[in-house]
Amino acid sequence: MLICRLSNKMSAIVDSQRKMEQKIGFVPTMGALHEGHLSLIRQSKKENDQTICSIFVNPTQFNNPSDFEKYPITIEKDIMALEEAGCDILFLPSVTEIYPSDFKKETYSLGTLETILEGKHRPGHFQGVCQVVDRLLCIISCTNLYLGRKDYQQCMVIRQLIHLRSHPVIVHTCETIREKDGLAMSSRNIRLSPAEREKAVCLVEALRLIQKNIQAGNLTSLIQEATSLLLANGLVVDYVALTNQQLEPLDHWDGHTPVVGLIAASIHDIRLIDNMIVA
Ligand code: AMP
Repeated sequence: MLICRLSNKMSAIVDSQRKMEQKIGFVPTMGALHEGHLSLIRQSKKENDQTICSIFVNPTQFNNPSDFEKYPITIEKDIMALEEAGCDILFLPSVTEIYPSDFKKETYSLGTLETILEGKHRPGHFQGVCQVVDRLLCIISCTNLYLGRKDYQQCMVIRQLIHLRSHPVIVHTCETIREKDGLAMSSRNIRLSPAEREKAVCLVEALRLIQKNIQAGNLTSLIQEATSLLLANGLVVDYVALTNQQLEPLDHWDGHTPVVGLIAASIHDIRLIDNMIVA
């Protein structure tokens, strides 16, 4: 696997591959790789001639400085995992490669995506996500972009960014990979103590509870039941939401519309999110 640290060099490699009509798959990450990330690499390998993974812990998307400082970094292990998965190129830029001194900060029109759920609880987060993904897509003009449904709202934000900036790329949203007990894999899980890890599984349990009990009609008591389960496990709940696939809230279910359940909750200062199609 080639490791490339310079933006200019990375662009030149991609451009020459595109000229040779090669299909390029791209998986942007913040590292501390797990099976969720590697499933995206494998999907890209199936559908492209070249697969590029980037590892960049983007400072501009962290609204909480301590979350940024404590974000896990396991680069040696990541390189080994990527090599084993057959990734062709790792783009490993420094902050100045992504944000050079002449970098012009844009503001992206994200509409309500920025004011609901993750947008509401993490002010500025999605602007930071757009900034980095926009820059990465300018450097790596890939054919296919692979994202995880684990970050449901982020997938919608990135689709909106691609539309706004007319990036000629096809977005693929891939299923959430889970631990044996159902906990969604996340780089932040590394930070959980064994006792916290046991409690963290209640996120997926709350979603499964909703999936099992959802009925046409008012959804308020079901949301309360799921919230109670999280609180009983000592989590601090940012939200438990039931929405349609466009993330519009559903207080009342008609029994037909597909329903997405979304949860964000913290165990001490470790914030976890999960979502599931519950109906
Ligand atoms: P991150 O390193 O957390 O920024 O994630 C990089 C990419 O991996 C994003 O598209 C995530 O949605 C995706 N991802 C993270 N966790 C999972 C998971 N458990 N299953 C599938 N994809 C995931």
